[in-house]
Amino acid sequence: MNLRYSDEEEQFRTDLRAWLQEVVPGIGPAPDEDDWEGRRDYDVAWQKVLYEAGYAGIHWPEEYGGNGASPVEHLIFLEENERAGAPYVGMNFVGLLHAGPTLIAEASPEQQRRHLPAILKGDEVWCQGFSEPAAGSDLASLRTRAVLDGDEYVVNGQKIWTSFAHAADYCELLVRTDPDAPKHKGITWLILPMDTPGIDIRPLRTIRGGSEFSEVFLDDVRVPVANRVGDENDGWRIAMVTFSFERGTAFVSELVYSMQLVRDLAALAKELPRASAREGSNRGGLPARSFERRESRGTQRTAWDDDGLRHELGAVAAEFDALWALTKRNVSQAAREGVPGIGGSVFKLHYAEMRHRLGNLADRILERGSLSLDDLDGLAVGAHVKGRIHAMSLSIAAGTTQVQRNIIGERILGLPKEPPVSASG
Ligand SMILES: Cc1cc2nc3c(=O)[nH]c(=O)nc-3n(C[C@H](O)[C@H](O)[C@H](O)COP(=O)(O)OP(=O)(O)OC[C@H]3O[C@@H](n4cnc5c(N)ncnc54)[C@H](O)[C@@H]3O)c2cc1C
Repeated sequence: MNLRYSDEEEQFRTDLRAWLQEVVPGIGPAPDEDDWEGRRDYDVAWQKVLYEAGYAGIHWPEEYGGNGASPVEHLIFLEENERAGAPYVGMNFVGLLHAGPTLIAEASPEQQRRHLPAILKGDEVWCQGFSEPAAGSDLASLRTRAVLDGDEYVVNGQKIWTSFAHAADYCELLVRTDPDAPKHKGITWLILPMDTPGIDIRPLRTIRGGSEFSEVFLDDVRVPVANRVGDENDGWRIAMVTFSFERGTAFVSELVYSMQLVRDLAALAKELPRASAREGSNRGGLPARSFERRESRGTQRTAWDDDGLRHELGAVAAEFDALWALTKRNVSQAAREGVPGIGGSVFKLHYAEMRHRLGNLADRILERGSLSLDDLDGLAVGAHVKGRIHAMSLSIAAGTTQVQRNIIGERILGLPKEPPVSASG
């Protein structure tokens, strides 16, 4: 195995870096978190810029309109985008990172022709309608019912935690088509146009104050049978393909961002004064006005002078490096086998844990600054505080930490399955 970049890969990086340097400065600031129209326009505009330059769907196969880039080029692409401060995939997350790849793996040629180019061009934003109030971890218990009526399914039920539902054009929707079959065998995967009559979207407010996800109520919603992906009642298998992308490779750009957060936090530690920083200590009392740059405070010691904090920063950076190596493995496997393997659960579990550890470290470095979502005194603390809150959702979204442990225990390590829960709970 050759761990060095080839001349062609270095050339790819050089060309991409030059292109990013040219286009990124022309992109305006990101809109406010709750400006949904603005956010959609911003994310879609960036997707179109990528598309016109031939970088959209960098890792998608060329026959589906992608760039056909190798796994290494895909990772270089993500690294360089982060380095250049280019916009994140944003609202195109579901379409580009797991609905599109699921359509490539499982949909009919007609469905692929209809949706894949539109996802790549930013013309279609997708959301995911899997979870329900009584079916999160135990997703196979979902109750949203679809009854066949001629060449349409009539769908009734409720979804919850549907990210970007109010801004999406389509939804990857799981429904129950056979209530009498064992629970994993009566589920179907549908493409739901979000402008179909009978859909009621009610935004939910999160701890950060935004409302990025919603409850979605479905009342006699008619979905053409032509929108079914795969066979009726084969939706659980297809959902597992979606999950393997969602857990395996969809978090890659998040990881690149996290590595940048660690570097930024280290730089910030060198600026934040510590009244009583001493070697080997993780604690330090703050002077009354702590958020002043080091220069203005003469030779005062900083958080960086604290051996304990420096050691933990190094350890966290090393853990993220290890996750980067695991990512390379997962991305290569996805390229070789068409879908990422079960290793995605290992990545998802450890990544979520590392983001919690990074958040705790940020709290200790920022001290009182960790109470502010805004930057303070010209110091960029807001991103770390938001990152700390975001970490809480990472151990829930895309399958909780406990569920990943069950998958790893049962399906990778071959440990006995957990006993079924009795009807009485
Ligand atoms: C930021 C974010 C975005 C999301 N976006 C979407 C989206 O776009 N579309 C969508 O469909 N869903 C989305 N979700 C929902 C997410 O998939 C669910 O929240 C998740 O699967 C957990 O389900 P739950 O919330 O019902 O918790 P529950 O399943 O009720 O779990 C509660 C607790 O019990 C534990 N638990 C449950 N079962 C077991 C078990 N067998 N063994 C051990 N412990 C167990 C869990 O780990 C958890 O700690 C999102 C969630 C978040 C946080």
